[in-house]
Amino acid sequence: MTSIDSLPPLRDVIDRHDLQARKSLGQNFLLDLNLTSKIARQAGDLTECDVLEIGPGPGGLTRGLLAEGARKVLAIEKDARCLPALAEIAQAYPNRLEVIEGDALAINPLEHLTAPIRVASNLPYNVGTELLIRWLTPKQWPPFWQSLTLMFQREVAQRITAEPGSKAYGRLAILAQWRCDARIVINLPPEAFSPPPKVSSAVVHLTALPEPRFPADFKTLERVVATAFNQRRKMLRSSLKSVAPDIEDRLVAAGLKPTERAEQVSLEGFCALARELQKP
Ligand code: SAM
Repeated sequence: MTSIDSLPPLRDVIDRHDLQARKSLGQNFLLDLNLTSKIARQAGDLTECDVLEIGPGPGGLTRGLLAEGARKVLAIEKDARCLPALAEIAQAYPNRLEVIEGDALAINPLEHLTAPIRVASNLPYNVGTELLIRWLTPKQWPPFWQSLTLMFQREVAQRITAEPGSKAYGRLAILAQWRCDARIVINLPPEAFSPPPKVSSAVVHLTALPEPRFPADFKTLERVVATAFNQRRKMLRSSLKSVAPDIEDRLVAAGLKPTERAEQVSLEGFCALARELQKP
């Protein structure tokens, strides 16, 4: 196997720094640098970009991102045991890697980044969905990032990219696809990680659209979608009863059938209903 840089193999790094994986931190490491470079390539052209990486761990993906030419990588890692290994990478790529020790949920990365910015991470599963929802729901659109290239459990990746009519279709699909192109770019079996997790994984690539695919007020859309999928087996006229007293009329005016179920309604349909509900 050819190496992507002059640094030691990741197994040696892990042994030397005694980085036994901790379940509580969602630690499933990628040890194949060809694979981490492949993931980095899915993030697009990095040469003119700063890249935000959450949870670099021993640095496999970090090395991939730097080898693929990222202008700068800002890596936020909660586990202090990983810092010496990351310092070695910083030394091999002078002035291109900044590491912050801490909880990604509590740190504002924007103070350390310059646009254009891409996000690429093998996320800790315990905070992955929360971070994704934050990145998808900023106060202003377009967001601070151009694209997100993120590892998830395959089931979560399928929920992000799901189409109407499928079991995985729900709030996460609407949230992601309303303002992004979202697709699964790599599927990975458990054995790709050390230690192997119980489930398969997938890398999702999301590109921010300049503006929403269909016009709608975000808060109204969120409320309608959350309420509809809360009782996904019920017909819209009963699952959405609490949203408006004249919901049947509103559904018809939005071009929807009151007898449809949430999982049959397209993103365009939900946006039309959100607009209809904004009317007096
Ligand atoms: N990127 C590495 C790789 O691909 O091998 C490690 C990925 S591992 C799935 C997740 C990493 O996120 C671990 O290094 C873990 O310590 C770190 N982590 C967990 N919770 C975190 C948090 N709240 N903020 C920042 N890092 C976190």
